[in-house]
Amino acid sequence: MFSIFNSVSNVRYGFSTRHDGNLRIPSSESDTEANRKRYIESLGLDPMRFVAANLVHGTHVHIAREEEAGSIIPECDGLVTRVPNLILSVTGADCFPVYAIDPVERVIGMAHAGWRGITSGIIPELIVQMNGLGSEPADILVGIGPGIRACHFEIHEDIFSHFEGHGEAVIEREKGMFVDLPAIIKTQLKEGGITPEHISDSEECTYHLEDKYFSRRRDQAGPLQAMMAYILLEK
Ligand SMILES: [Zn+2]
Repeated sequence: MFSIFNSVSNVRYGFSTRHDGNLRIPSSESDTEANRKRYIESLGLDPMRFVAANLVHGTHVHIAREEEAGSIIPECDGLVTRVPNLILSVTGADCFPVYAIDPVERVIGMAHAGWRGITSGIIPELIVQMNGLGSEPADILVGIGPGIRACHFEIHEDIFSHFEGHGEAVIEREKGMFVDLPAIIKTQLKEGGITPEHISDSEECTYHLEDKYFSRRRDQAGPLQAMMAYILLEK
């Protein structure tokens, strides 16, 4: 998905598709835990090495520790760690999974970034927390996963005010106002000291790619279903 990660030794990362089933956390559907276990095992990974964020569309980034392996961390939308073989994970269906690696200090990070988290500052917070673990922003590589893009992310008046400081990402079309959320993520990354050449974008739109992904906005009539993003550095 991200060619800039190819040079990093022993990194593994990915994003499920709708064919892996509903992997959503938190879950109202009882089958998602079994689906998650099946997906993780299909990757040859150990479910008991996962640390997942229990998403609240906020900006808290949790520093994951060895003893948290196998658990779901409440009230956070981002995770960072320098523990090898600890797998960081978030779920989403339109919100962007943001993958970060510092290959120098061997620190990783992952954020769940929807419009609320992005406009509240989850991206700068992810960089701050990696920096707290010893990472220089100039060393950090970032990948922006699939999410709802400017082709389909229409906003209405009720949330216009949240994008006031992000005029560069707001697109006015005949049929309405749209926002380019990855453009805001990229601006914030650069403001946080990430080198533009260290940012890679999957360019995939979850709404658009109906055969591949769930989309909360497109599928709003049905149950909440989501994909799972993960990243780890193996020892
Ligand atoms: Zn789209």
